[in-house]
Amino acid sequence: MQALQLTQWQHPPELREVPDPEPGPGQLVIKVGGAGACHSDLHLMNDFVEGLVPFKLPFTLGHETAGWVDALGAGVTGVELGQPVAVYGPWGCGRCRRCRLGMENYCLRQAELVVAGGGIGLDGGMAERMLVPDARLVVPLGDLDPAAAAPLTDAALTPYHAIARSMALLGAGSSAVVIGAGGGLGHMAVAILEALTPATIIAVDQTEAALGLAAERGAGHGVIAGASAAAEVRALTGASGAELVLDLVGTESTLALAAAVVGSLGHLTLVGLGGGTLPVGFFSVPYEASVATTYWGSIIELMDVIALAQAGVISAEITRFPLAQGAEAYERLQAGTVRGRAVIVP
Ligand code: NAD
Ligand code: ZN
Ligand code: ZN
Repeated sequence: MQALQLTQWQHPPELREVPDPEPGPGQLVIKVGGAGACHSDLHLMNDFVEGLVPFKLPFTLGHETAGWVDALGAGVTGVELGQPVAVYGPWGCGRCRRCRLGMENYCLRQAELVVAGGGIGLDGGMAERMLVPDARLVVPLGDLDPAAAAPLTDAALTPYHAIARSMALLGAGSSAVVIGAGGGLGHMAVAILEALTPATIIAVDQTEAALGLAAERGAGHGVIAGASAAAEVRALTGASGAELVLDLVGTESTLALAAAVVGSLGHLTLVGLGGGTLPVGFFSVPYEASVATTYWGSIIELMDVIALAQAGVISAEITRFPLAQGAEAYERLQAGTVRGRAVIVP
């Protein structure tokens, strides 16, 4: 079968012929319906160098995948051939306390496991078929189309988790600022805030097109990133500042903006891997503002996200690319010209 693989660090991905995966005991293979192209893949391809992570190359990209169950290994029960499923992305040990709570994203044995999941060190979803090492890692999709549902597993799950931990702050009269609001994660963050909270949503992004998508998803205000953005956002939040600032970019300038607009008692949540840092000192953030990074979400939260999509409350805006144009999808993601999420459809 064909697979889009990372073969060398700091090189574009290559379409290669690879053997079809065979499920071992307890494993399953899915026929891929869609695999989203995440900006983290660009960080992985462009910023990582040999030796930084213990991943062996080559491996197939795609850590945001959905498809149909295609083959079952010995002893697998509870899933049926042909059933549409989403693949939960962060693969933990499955046995530690966190994993048993469904929080495999924060598996206590992550350091010794070495690899993070399919598409992140192991073969992912940008291929005709994908091996999933355990049936616990798939969630039924019901009537949802796998290509449209693939982004639920990361572009939606990651902001869902980041928002869920701040839900108590997001009551009537509150405001939530989303930096990078027109991107893959951003437009889903806005949709989730709109669906689940009465907060006023303030979108920040670089282009009018990106702010347009955020507005379609429920952002009440759009602010272009730049020197005057902090003042514009502060004018919208008033004296209290924002209860939640989600930084989905994470550069020096977006973190500075986040610190300038978060309110006292607020949450500044860093999701983007832009490599910036935020100096934390007594006067650099407001009183009792909390700063946290978040990584992906739990399996239970993925079930919630899928249920919201099944109810028609959230959906991803997707731009489809065939597998042969996978490298082009990443070029367009880098250039910022993908609307919503690029999804590779083999
Ligand atoms: P994307 O390229 O689809 O979207 C990024 C958006 O940010 C774009 O709309 C872009 O215009 C906007 N942007 C870029 N620079 C900006 C700036 N200075 N000010 C305002 N907006 C700006 O990317 P994505 O796939 O949505 O990923 C977003 C980030 O989240 C990436 O850094 C990615 O690696 C990271 N990520 C983190 C996790 C996690 O679990 N922590 C999970 C997935 C992705
Ligand atoms: Zn990702
Ligand atoms: Zn674990």
